[in-house]
Formats: sequence, C-alpha cells, structure tokens
Amino acid sequence: MLHATETTAETTWQDYANCLGVDPDLFFPERGASTREAKEVCRGCVVREDCLEFALANGEKFGIWGGMSERERRRIRRARAMARRAAATA
Ligand code: SF4
Repeated sequence: MLHATETTAETTWQDYANCLGVDPDLFFPERGASTREAKEVCRGCVVREDCLEFALANGEKFGIWGGMSERERRRIRRARAMARRAAATA
C-alpha cells in the first residue's frame, strides 16, 4: 500500500504504484473483511515486488502490500527464515 512518504525530487517505486489515488481504506480492511478489491488493484501494479519487499523489510504488520495480506507476508517471512536456517546448517 502506498503510504505517505517524504517528498523528494527523486522518483521512487511509489511513484508508479497502481494504488495512487485509490481509497487507502481498501488496503486496510476490517478484520475478516474482503481483501479482494485491494488485491485486484495490486495485480496490475508494476511495482508489486518492490512494495512487497518494502513491507517485508520494514515489518509492516497491517494492510495489503504487494498484493499480500498480513498472514501471507508472515508465511513468506517464516519460509525465508527457514530457508536461511537450512542454508546455514547445510
Ligand atoms: S502492490 Fe498494491 S499496494 Fe503495493 S504499490 Fe502496488 S497497488 Fe499499491
């Protein structure tokens, strides 16, 4: 989800976000509410990967980022942690 960032002269991935101008509430649905619409916006987003990695790197706990919910991002973090541990012990 595109969140308020500092205004700089540099172009960032946020400038290409598909959710620019879209109601932010869509990306922070109430518990149990549908995430389908937000994910639909993300589906056509050219910076989806950047958005997801940003959320993972910053430990974003809430909202849809890179087309993924909190739970889906947690799963990715867990899988990556397991892969790191497996690589370290290999
Ligand atoms: S992936 Fe989704 S939340 Fe992230 S910038 Fe694109 S449209 Fe916005």
